[in-house]
Formats: sequence, C-alpha cells, structure tokens
Amino acid sequence: MRTSYDAIVIGSGFGGGVAACRLAQAGLSVGVIERGRRYDINPFPRNWQDPADGWLWKTGQGLFDIKPLQAMTVVQAAGLGGGSLIYANVHLRAPGDVFQHRWPAGYSRAALDPYYDLVAYMLDIQPITKAPLGLPPKTQMMKAVAARLGRSDQFCYPNLAVDFGAPDAAHRNKFGAEQKGCTFCGECDIGCNYHAKNTIDLNYLKVAADHGAEITTQCETREIEAMGSGYKVRFIDHGAGGAAGEVQARYVFVCAGAVNSTELLLKSRAAGKLPKLSERLGYGYSGNGDFLAFAFDTATPIEPSRGPTITSGIVYSRSDDGVDNSFIFEEGGYPKEIGGLLQALKTQNLFDAEAIRTWSAFQGAVSAAARGRIGGKDPAAARSAVFLAMGRDLANGVIRLNPLSGELEIQWDVASNLPLYEAERRLGNDIATAMGGKLALNPLWKLLRIPVSVHNLGGCLMADSPNGGVTDANGQVFGYLGLYVLDGAILPSATGVNPSHTIAAVAERNIEAAIRRIKNDPKWRAPEAASAQPVIDPLTSIVIPQGGTVATNTQSIGIAFTETMKGYVTKGWTPPDDYSGAEAAGQAADSRMDFTLTITLPDLDAFLASDEHAGVAKGVVHVNDFTSPAGAPVEAGVFNLFVSGGAADRRRMLYALPFVGSDGKQYLLDGFKDVRDHGNFDVWGSTSTLYTRIRQGNDTNAPVVATGIIRILIPDFMRQLTTFTVIGTNDPIAKASAFERFGRMFFGSLWEVFVRPHLPA
Ligand SMILES: Cc1cc2nc3c(=O)[nH]c(=O)nc-3n(C[C@H](O)[C@H](O)[C@H](O)COP(=O)(O)OP(=O)(O)OC[C@H]3O[C@@H](n4cnc5c(N)ncnc54)[C@H](O)[C@@H]3O)c2cc1C
Ligand code: SF4
Repeated sequence: MRTSYDAIVIGSGFGGGVAACRLAQAGLSVGVIERGRRYDINPFPRNWQDPADGWLWKTGQGLFDIKPLQAMTVVQAAGLGGGSLIYANVHLRAPGDVFQHRWPAGYSRAALDPYYDLVAYMLDIQPITKAPLGLPPKTQMMKAVAARLGRSDQFCYPNLAVDFGAPDAAHRNKFGAEQKGCTFCGECDIGCNYHAKNTIDLNYLKVAADHGAEITTQCETREIEAMGSGYKVRFIDHGAGGAAGEVQARYVFVCAGAVNSTELLLKSRAAGKLPKLSERLGYGYSGNGDFLAFAFDTATPIEPSRGPTITSGIVYSRSDDGVDNSFIFEEGGYPKEIGGLLQALKTQNLFDAEAIRTWSAFQGAVSAAARGRIGGKDPAAARSAVFLAMGRDLANGVIRLNPLSGELEIQWDVASNLPLYEAERRLGNDIATAMGGKLALNPLWKLLRIPVSVHNLGGCLMADSPNGGVTDANGQVFGYLGLYVLDGAILPSATGVNPSHTIAAVAERNIEAAIRRIKNDPKWRAPEAASAQPVIDPLTSIVIPQGGTVATNTQSIGIAFTETMKGYVTKGWTPPDDYSGAEAAGQAADSRMDFTLTITLPDLDAFLASDEHAGVAKGVVHVNDFTSPAGAPVEAGVFNLFVSGGAADRRRMLYALPFVGSDGKQYLLDGFKDVRDHGNFDVWGSTSTLYTRIRQGNDTNAPVVATGIIRILIPDFMRQLTTFTVIGTNDPIAKASAFERFGRMFFGSLWEVFVRPHLPA
C-alpha cells in the first residue's frame, strides 16, 4: 500500500465495490482497505469440525462476523466482496412508497431506476427460471403453497446474481473473471467455491483493479482523522501480524457496512478526530424487519440443499389492527452439512429457558448442540426448511458506544416492532402448515426475544440537514468535505425487501455525483451506463388487492399487562444470595428499587404451547445507587411465567431486565419468583415476591453488585388487574376466550404447585 491516494475506500461490499470501481474508472488513484481475506483466489472454509478454521471473524479473521450487540444479533461477512460472499444473491428493488418517508429530497423509485438498471447489468441478475437445471423442489413447493393459501398474485421469482450458464462449466464473465455455471449445490450462504455467484470481487472490484485500484486485504481500519484538506486513515494490518499503519487521502469513502461504518465514525468522533460529526450519528438503525424461522417435517421433501439459497418470495401487505405491515417472505436453503444441526431445534427442552437467559448462555447451548451434529447427515433434513422474512420495521434503533466500556451496542425497541414480527410469524406458520409441517421459531428470538439481522441498515442516515442525519443526500458527511459514507449505513429506512440492490443503486447514484464534483465534469457517467438496459423488477407484477393481501389463517391474539413492583436493595451485599438480609439492610437505609413494566405476550397460543412461556418486558427500572430517581429505560427485557422449577410442585417466574446505569455501565436486573408451597399455602407471597440481583453486565453469569427483594403491593396489584388487555382482536368472544385460556394456564400452574401435591394419590 502507498502512503497516500486520491481516494481511499474502506470496505469492499456493495457500497465499497461500486465506489472503488467508479473512482478508478474516473482516473483517481484508489486504495481499497478490506479487513477480510480474499476468496477469489482462496477457497471458502469447509472444515465443519473446527469453527476456528476460517469460519469466524473473531477467531482468526474468518468469513462470518456474528456480533451479539445487546438487543440485536448482527450477522455480516468479512472478505473481499463483503456481504456478497455469503449472501443469498437476491436482488429486488425497494417499492416506490419506501422512498416517500424519511428519504431526502431527490430520491424516488423513478430517480433510482437507472442506477438499479446499471447494478443489474454489472451483476447479471436473473431469476431461477433461467437455470438450466430447472426449478428446485423447494421453489416448486413455495409456488404451490402460495396457490394453496390464495397468494399466487403475490408470489414471485426474485432476480438472483447467479451465473446460470452450463453447470460447473468454466468461462470468463464480461469483466474477464473466471466463473462456473451454478450446480445447485446449495452453499451460497457459506461462499460459492464454483464462483457461480456474481460476487462483487468478480465484477465491480475486478474492474476497479483493472483500472489501477490497489486492494489491500486483511487490513482493518481503526480510525479516520480530518487533517488539512484531507484525511488520515489508521489501520491494523492483520496480514502483517497486526502491525499498525496509516495512509492519507483527499477523499475517503466509508463502506464498512452499516454497523461497522457507524462504529468507525463513532470511535473517530469519540477520539476527537472527527469532532463535528452530527449528533444523529448512530440513530435510525434498522434490522430490515428480519425474521428467521424454520419448518420441520414437511409432508413431501422440500430438499433445502438443492438450488441457490433463496429462489422465491411471497409479498404480504395489509393493515393488521391499524398497523401497516409490509414484508416479503422467502424460502431459504442451507448446506446439507447443517441439516443435522437444525434438527436439534426440534428437540423439546434442548434449550432450558431458565439456564439460557443471555446471549452467552445461548451460544454455549448452541455449541453443545452442534457438537456431534454439525457436518453429519440426517434424513429428516430433506423435510426441513429455513424461512426468512424481511419487512419495513420502524428503523428506530440506535447504534452506540457504551459511554463507559466503549463497547458497541444496539438499542432496539422490540415492543414497537412486534406487530411486524408477529405478522411475519403468522405467515410463516401458514406456510409451514400448508407444507404439512410445523413452524419452529429462531431459538434466540423464542428464548431471549433478540432478533437476528443479516440486513443491517442505518446509523449514518442521509438527510436534508445535519439535524436529521449524518450525510447529505449524496452521502457526503455534513461538516467534512470529501468524507463520504456509501453503504447500507446511509439508507434512511428499511427497504422491506433484500437491501443490497438498493445499497448498490444508491452507491452508483452518489458516486456519480461525487465524481462529477471531484472532476468538475457534470456529465460524467459510469462507462457501463450506456450498456445497461431497463429491467422489470419481479415485484412490479405483484398484485396487492384493495384492502391488502389476505389475512393469515394463523391468528395472533396476545395479552399485555402492566406491572409495578417496589422494594429495597443493598449495593455490595454479601453473600449475594442473602435476599432477606439485603432487603432488611436496604429498608433500614431507605435504599429503594422498583420497576413499572408492560409485559406483552404477543401470541397467546405460542406462549401457552412453549415451555419458556416468554413475554417481552418494556418499561422503566429504578435502582438506588445505579439509576437516577427517574429510572432507566428497559427496552427488550424478557419475562418468563411459570417455567419449570426443577420439581413438579415448583415453578419460577423469571425477569431479565437489561438497563444502562447512570454511570453508563450495562446492568441486568436478574430476578426470580420462587413459586412453591412452603407449607403455609402462601400463594400471594410466592407469586408477588421477586428475589432480585443486580448484575454488572448483560449476562446472568456477570458479577452480582447488589441484592434485594421487590414485591407487588396490593394497591399496585389491583391497578395491574385493570391493565390486562387482549391485543390482536376486537372480537369480544375472542377476547373473553383469550383471558380464559391465560387464566386457565395461570391458575392451573398454581393448582399444580399448591393443590395437587395435597390430593390423595
Ligand atoms: C447470510 C446472509 C444472506 C444475505 N442475503 C442477502 C440477499 O439475498 N440479498 C440482499 O440484498 N442482501 C442479503 N444479505 C445482506 C447483504 O449481504 C448486506 O445488506 C450487504 O452486504 C451490505 O452491503 P454494504 O456495502 O453495506 O456492506 P458489506 O457488504 O457488509 O461490506 C462491508 C465490508 O467492509 C469490511 N469492513 C468492515 N469493517 C471494516 C474495517 N474496519 N476496515 C476495513 N474493512 C472493513 C467488511 O469485511 C465487508 O467486506 C445477506 C446477508 C447475510 C449475512
Ligand atoms: S447453488 Fe452452489 S453453485 Fe449455485 S450459486 Fe449457490 S453455491 Fe454457487
């Protein structure tokens, strides 16, 4: 790498690939800095027995970067070509009305269409119907299921960036890179060793390199500093044993993906290197409404490992109880080697709700489940499917650095996005049922209410002014001439469909504007623009009937209630599980702790059927010495009602409430009600007493820093009774039935604990 370039591009995914290609074609000297490895010349990882062998970014800079960021789990790629290396190849245009909310002036679908056409030309997109191997079984099954559910008018074959030439036959693409035709091996999301995926390294980056761009891989940018009329970029060279280095440029294009670009700017601002960055930095994060689920035991084999990962979609768009829900539901394949592991999700009680109350505990359970299962074959895998829905969430998340630890975290308001997730789940259940199978939820969501997103967007939004976002409508950072963000971070809203096509089209639009300004050439265009032809997006033929698409057969009627509990806490009490001692000491010192939470059980059927009986808790928690008297918000707490207490006559109610203390540190209110008969039939005491530990960190293994007890007081309980509401229906009979079923479960559990043990055998 040289010491300076005209332009530095950080990251080499959709945004970075477009930027590097066009800047190099425009004659600028370009340096591309990519943290991951090259896979155009090296094979993708395939050692199923060793996760450290090239798979994970955190162990040896592997391909997959999986980040648990508090309220959201983020999955992204590391490698030359970015997310294109492991994505499912789907290219869909964002529907026109997406651009009408929150996008800056100048954006519309019509204005973006020529850039979508250009991306389509560069990536040679086409639907599965062009594949010489025909339609895979899963595609046929999705089409049949759409018909069975009355959704044929909303079924489509999305365009895919896949080479559907003769299978396994080598040839050079129009940019001179070697590729082979798709063999239907089903390994798109672990990297295609046939190079049949039209990944960014084989087109945009190939053109960039052919025009002189210098690409450095295994080089991770750590900081950007404004200096004079340009920028200094500091990095760690993993290829050189972690040596630090720096490079300068007049123009810097930050394209490290939504989460990493935002992190880089947040850290650069925190270090005083880019002090003028907008206060809005980090805001507007969206998980693109991602919802992951599985179907097991389909009536006929769906053969998920045959064909590209995603080949079809069903669009859903309707108002559900006054909330506009809009999403696309896609089938997902997976490599045959993980078929056996997925079967583990079917096993009852594989994941113990009481033990798994944090991400790290979940990770441990998954690792244990994977041992002996991953890489193995299981005939049931042919009758299992992965489903992925993505839709228009509220884009109301925040990416931030924890003020004290400096660690990256995402705040995500699960409760306000629940209506979308619920609609996605309902359609998933309809589809699984229509396949003759059974739906299973992503266990992370089921147990911890943490969504997983592979389509992270936002954090450095484009806006008309710095009050609204971080960059202008062309991706140039407010207050910093020549500094651009050109990846998913600048999208001001969820796209509601797979976003890469839009990320690349916006990058094409914005790099054109940047080059016109840099070169003082108002007519500059990408050379390939002349060859690009108008493409009709498959969503154009989707028909949304008046009043929206049909309602799902699956109902989701839920229950919500608000609970207030009050009590006493003592900081640093030992032993940490001496709750009564800590309560008494807290009371003597008037050291109080309380919370008011709204607990939502979004789907009563699922709640009753599962062992976890989990709900989402949102509200405010106040803990003396840890929060201000006004308390700290809890956005995605988890509440479990009557999980097994280890004995037939014992149940537990669990509360896991993450919050940030006034000192900026992460804490967890980790509480349990011990529901059992102590011999005095104290139903009220055992259901209203919450033994509480405050842990420093967001983990039930984290050190306990305070102990106490909080209780429901009778007046608060009387008020709580008035807050019970049924959500998802206005039908009085359905409401009464929901209350009755919830009550039966609630009082049935008390019966099991307090009455049954005393009945004659
Ligand atoms: C399993 C999976 C399937 C998906 N399927 C689809 C799909 O079918 N269709 C679709 O539209 N989208 C899909 N996506 C999402 C898609 O991959 C992303 O939306 C897209 O890649 C984002 O593009 P980007 O340019 O914003 O960032 P990325 O493509 O993520 O590129 C960012 C690049 O920057 C590099 N980088 C990060 N930090 C640094 C640093 N500090 N220094 C240097 N380099 C850095 C990364 O290694 C990466 O190469 C999928 C994602 C996953 C994980
Ligand atoms: S199905 Fe196999 S060959 Fe085809 S694009 Fe996916 S990984 Fe490549």
